[in-house]
Amino acid sequence: MENKSPLRVHNVRLVDGVSDAAVPDAVLEADADGRITFAGPAGEAPPASRDIPAIDGQGGTLLPGFFDCHVHLGLPSNRSVVEQALTTGDVMRMIQTTHRLRETLESGITSARDLGALPAAYRDAVAGGQLAGPRLQVAVGIISHTGGHADATLPSGLHLDFDFCVLADDVREVRLAARRMLRDGADVIKVCTSGGISSATDDPDDEDLLDEEVAAVVDEARRHRGRPVAAHAQGRAGILAAIRGGVRSVEHGFGIDDRGCDLLGERGAFLVPTLATVFRPLERSKTSPWHYEKKRRWNEFTKKNIAAAIERKVSIAAGTDAGITPHGHNLAELSHLVELGMSPMDAIRAGTVHSARLLEVDDRLGTLRPGMLADLVICAGDPVRDITLLSAPENIVVVAQQGVVRKNTLPTEATGETFVAQHILEGHHD
Ligand SMILES: [Zn+2]
Repeated sequence: MENKSPLRVHNVRLVDGVSDAAVPDAVLEADADGRITFAGPAGEAPPASRDIPAIDGQGGTLLPGFFDCHVHLGLPSNRSVVEQALTTGDVMRMIQTTHRLRETLESGITSARDLGALPAAYRDAVAGGQLAGPRLQVAVGIISHTGGHADATLPSGLHLDFDFCVLADDVREVRLAARRMLRDGADVIKVCTSGGISSATDDPDDEDLLDEEVAAVVDEARRHRGRPVAAHAQGRAGILAAIRGGVRSVEHGFGIDDRGCDLLGERGAFLVPTLATVFRPLERSKTSPWHYEKKRRWNEFTKKNIAAAIERKVSIAAGTDAGITPHGHNLAELSHLVELGMSPMDAIRAGTVHSARLLEVDDRLGTLRPGMLADLVICAGDPVRDITLLSAPENIVVVAQQGVVRKNTLPTEATGETFVAQHILEGHHD
């Protein structure tokens, strides 16, 4: 990140992403590079210095900045992509995307992986400090075969020419599609190995790319700085095809069974169950009949499968499919994981350290330990006791990236004078 700052946080309970227990009265300090130099009990902390901006966390909980490993920041969550395509011009779409980045960051997400419909320039603008948002990894587009999950031909026959939907029907074409994504700046290649609940003409149990096609994309990504592949895979057959082909993460994984869980473990791959899509209230009047029927059929079944995967200790990273689900409420995903049997501390780890492992940034992000970057949040109250606290963005009272405070809604009397001066000096928003 272009922006970095020293920072000291005190009067907080520390959940560092590693330890099983929280530190009740803790201090965290980061140096001028925004790198953590101390995180631990207040009694062992270095003395406070006037030169370091300080935040009194007022007894809240200090946690690592959270990850959302499956978002679509370029897609609106309050209307369909079809409506967006028909009604929204490029400039307005860009303004709305910019707004979503900020909203996502302020909900506690300091890093995100966008799995389709976000140009790489957003990633670069965030990294360059021109745009407030989560640090980004992007897939740019989504690859499927004709008639598959990424085929934007509507049941009417109208074809929506979405540049992020790429159709490829043999090994040569999938390699070409992957190369185009890489040319456009993809950090990760997104493929579909199954149909989807939200696509009109296919089904989660439909298979999408063939084994040799998945393997070709995985190879193409590997040949380019070892980039990973993420697979949209909902039904059992698609899940197994994705893992066999060597993807790093199975997205959704609704139909996962014991075989899929074991195979994930053997290959060291991750499951990103996007439970926000499953727990989203299903309103018959607002849902197309085909979509309503598929969701109804899949939701209960999915909860059982994901609960079993949690019990089998599959590596799970947090992802919401925001864009399909509402933006800016990303941490509700952790509550859904807890509802399906995960402990609150493990859910926090799924959203921090395990996600950082999936994104291969765990050497600098995902935990609050000396040497790591000070991407952090303060949550009012104790989310280890009540994980639902994280779901409400208003409880996320402080968000910082590499020591730079991006959000602070603590009452002003609690924020030190030096901090306020620094905040204004650096021209940060709000
Ligand atoms: Zn998605």
